[in-house]
Amino acid sequence: MNEESKSSRRQFLKIGGAAIAMIPVVAMSGNALATVNAAMRTSMKYQDKPNGANHCANCMHFVPGKTAKALGGCQIFPGDTEISPNGYCVAWAAKPK
Ligand code: SF4
Repeated sequence: MNEESKSSRRQFLKIGGAAIAMIPVVAMSGNALATVNAAMRTSMKYQDKPNGANHCANCMHFVPGKTAKALGGCQIFPGDTEISPNGYCVAWAAKPK
């Protein structure tokens, strides 16, 4: 197994772990999506600023808003529509070219 696939596997396990950790929160609250996202944002170390050249707008998980500068969504944060195109989290993965 090469370094790139080890890294991808580690990232997948990290994301999967965070998603599994959120299941009890979702099951207990049901309607507290903002709270769920706040906890998930914390666990994924989401920040509203880029990490060097890596930011949500060039991440494969980003769902763009209406304009390039508008808040958008993220496939990792279900239902969250306030992801900054200049944000960043540990699940960042380069958008395929
Ligand atoms: S996975 Fe992280 S870096 Fe990528 S779009 Fe979502 S919040 Fe931004």
